[in-house]
Amino acid sequence: MQSATIGMTAIRAPSPYCRCGVLKTEDNCGVRNLKTGRSFQPACLACRAKRLRRYRLQNPANALWSAAKNRATRAGLSFDLTVEDIVIPDVCPVFGIPLIWAGGGRTDNTPSVDRQIPTLGYVRGNIVVISWRANRLKNDASPDELQRLAAYTLHLSTEPKCPTSQ
Ligand SMILES: [Zn+2]
Repeated sequence: MQSATIGMTAIRAPSPYCRCGVLKTEDNCGVRNLKTGRSFQPACLACRAKRLRRYRLQNPANALWSAAKNRATRAGLSFDLTVEDIVIPDVCPVFGIPLIWAGGGRTDNTPSVDRQIPTLGYVRGNIVVISWRANRLKNDASPDELQRLAAYTLHLSTEPKCPTSQ
């Protein structure tokens, strides 16, 4: 092993054990290749997953921000948001249902970032946090399409076309 020193301070070799007690191996700890050589991740897979879950649970705006950034990158959309731009209201501005953050998974009540004008991307002034239900129903529909859809469903509920449903 290389002897690594910065100035006069010797760097302590990392423990071969994760703090949960598990012995670090390539399987459970992965290996990161730093310029200084091969070394294990500071914690095992299970501990890192646990830490990520806890972080997500405690930082919903961060989680929504990074998910939006990933989507923007994948879809080639504009993105100029900071975490501060992600403002999560208590209730969904569309349906008035409570917005509930569970740190992972998605229900109707999960807060989600909506692009008001989808093609503009995730840019300041174009995003609102709404319920996943509202976001899912809206998808990428235009206002005109949503109006037609609403008219269609209203028409169905007042004048059923199918005789067997009466
Ligand atoms: Zn561990």
